[in-house]
Amino acid sequence: WFDQAHFIPPDAIFALTAQYVADTFLQKVNLGQGTYRDENGNPWVLPSVRKSREILSQKLYHEYLPIVGLASFRQEAAKLALGPELFAKQQDKLATCQSLSGTGALHLAGLLLRAGRTSRPKIYIPEPTWSNHHQVFASLGFQCETFQYYNPETKDLDIDSYYAALKAAEPNSVVIIHACAHNPTGCDPSKEQWRELAGIFKERQLFPLFDAAYLGFNSGNVDNDAFAIRLFIEETKLEAGVCLSFAKNMGLYGERVGCFLLATSTEDTAVKTQSMLEMLQRSEVSNPPAYGAKIASTILGDDTLRQAWHDDLTTMSDRIRSMRRALYDRLVSSGKRSDNNPGRTTLTRSAGAPGSWEHLIRQSGMFGFLGLSPDIVLKLREQYHIYMAGNSRISIAGLNEQNVAYVGDSITECLKQ
Ligand code: PMP
Repeated sequence: WFDQAHFIPPDAIFALTAQYVADTFLQKVNLGQGTYRDENGNPWVLPSVRKSREILSQKLYHEYLPIVGLASFRQEAAKLALGPELFAKQQDKLATCQSLSGTGALHLAGLLLRAGRTSRPKIYIPEPTWSNHHQVFASLGFQCETFQYYNPETKDLDIDSYYAALKAAEPNSVVIIHACAHNPTGCDPSKEQWRELAGIFKERQLFPLFDAAYLGFNSGNVDNDAFAIRLFIEETKLEAGVCLSFAKNMGLYGERVGCFLLATSTEDTAVKTQSMLEMLQRSEVSNPPAYGAKIASTILGDDTLRQAWHDDLTTMSDRIRSMRRALYDRLVSSGKRSDNNPGRTTLTRSAGAPGSWEHLIRQSGMFGFLGLSPDIVLKLREQYHIYMAGNSRISIAGLNEQNVAYVGDSITECLKQ
């Protein structure tokens, strides 16, 4: 039956993690996969999540959820993304469906875009982007187009290219937007640029599909991180899709907690698209997993727990920001590693890593986009046991006080060789 099957190479980032796990070098550093680590390099169960689990354990049944998911979770997720005021105005024009985390939300969005329209729209995807975007939409049969989002020369967002791409895009196409903390570049438009972008979406009749995998995790403040979503829907009055993930902002990676929201312009469209989402979900997963959605909705639906979660967001985003700064400081002033204690260095202020590193502190979110060449990335992995994505994206959360000097000095050494 399957003699025509092709071999598909393993997903690069998961393969990198496996390579890291198999590495026996004591000082190895994993900056590959984007998962939060605490100051000791360990996975972190958020205190708000722990508390929510305690509450749940007293009354936990393992019944099926409805097809479109836990009602309280869908409502709280929509309130979170839109904010209470916009939610109140928009709720009758919303379709929502619980999903298998952010990836599942994108997939559901794709299913709806395919089934709910007479012709299949083109999907415009920024370049670079999260490695799964192309796969999700290409696997559903969409034609995917890319546009240049980042300028490697300036190591910054290429806003002119973004504007030009939207102006040249076929009307009635879909554009994938990273709501905040663009993965992998860490470069987001400013508020003014978002306004300009929203205007072009409106003018060109483009459909914004927000990939919102980092709400609250980026700045520590959900309202800041949801700025673009709310602007497009409320001010510019666009129909929009929002793919929410609670993997990073609640640390619920493996529980697969997500939600797809569709802000439509009429109640009738909301009712119809809601019914389509129900049918699409039924044929795919029948009904979504319950546990993580219950954890999230318990947190979001309780004032005290929600405040505790906000504190957790601050803990995570502050630690990431301070590690970003620490790596930058080390890179611009790193010294020579002494061989018997590679983690500690004698600082010689004149010796920094060649080149400018301002881009690292300009970026925001979980990732640092270093701008290293593939051969340096390879050398760092093979000689220094420092693992990062092939495009030199590092997960800043993998840094801590014990390894940041080693990482900074290793990069410096590599660049000077
Ligand atoms: N979009 C982006 C931009 C991401 O970085 C991620 C996680 N790496 C996701 C979506 C989806 O992740 P998940 O399916 O685990 O929620």
